[in-house]
Amino acid sequence: MSSDSILLLETVNFAADKHRNQRRKDPEATPYINHPIGVARILSHEGGITDIEVLQAALLHDTVEDTETSIAELEAVFGQTVARIVQEVTDNKTLSKQERKRQQVEHAPHSSQQAKLVKLADKLYNLRDLNRCTPTGWTAERIQEYFVWAAEVVRGLKGTNPTLEGKLEELFKKRGVGL
Ligand code: NDP
Ligand code: ZN
Repeated sequence: MSSDSILLLETVNFAADKHRNQRRKDPEATPYINHPIGVARILSHEGGITDIEVLQAALLHDTVEDTETSIAELEAVFGQTVARIVQEVTDNKTLSKQERKRQQVEHAPHSSQQAKLVKLADKLYNLRDLNRCTPTGWTAERIQEYFVWAAEVVRGLKGTNPTLEGKLEELFKKRGVGL
């Protein structure tokens, strides 16, 4: 087996362990780990991305935001580049939800290419999830608001990956949201 395959198994195992007690917000409460695996798979399978550090960062992208994991821990285990990409896609949890959303829009255009790729795939996965079913307690209006906000973020990520951006554009178009 190639060293890249071994590294990806190490990374997915680390993420699965960190997210072991978490569930998604869909009515079936899908295991949370399906999301980071799906984000990495969108990058490889749909986006044509083979950069191992981007794929690792995708697998780890919600560990710092949503579990007891620090950037220092990621740096020690997976190295500086992977840790830096995860840092770039991690919201500052000391801020209000509204301010975090505003900062995602503001920071998107200034992110590295690697972080932009993870952000695009993360949005694509979450929007597909919202089309698949309504999260527990959400209204149709809240879903529409999420699409409108996601489009503001994705506008700042343009010119990163035409395939992923094209698929996002289609989803926004169906909701009457332009890019
Ligand atoms: P959240 O940020 O709480 O939820 C969206 C996030 O949940 C996604 O970005 C995703 O993040 C994660 N997620 C988990 N499961 C799913 C799933 N099945 N489908 C899609 N995403 C999933 O919600 P909002 O984005 O709405 O943020 C809160 C904001 O909403 C506040 O700013 C508040 O003002 C507003 N609000 C609006 C209400 C309304 O009725 N209109 C009610 C309450 C709040 P990840 O990739 O990290 O997993
Ligand atoms: Zn995510």
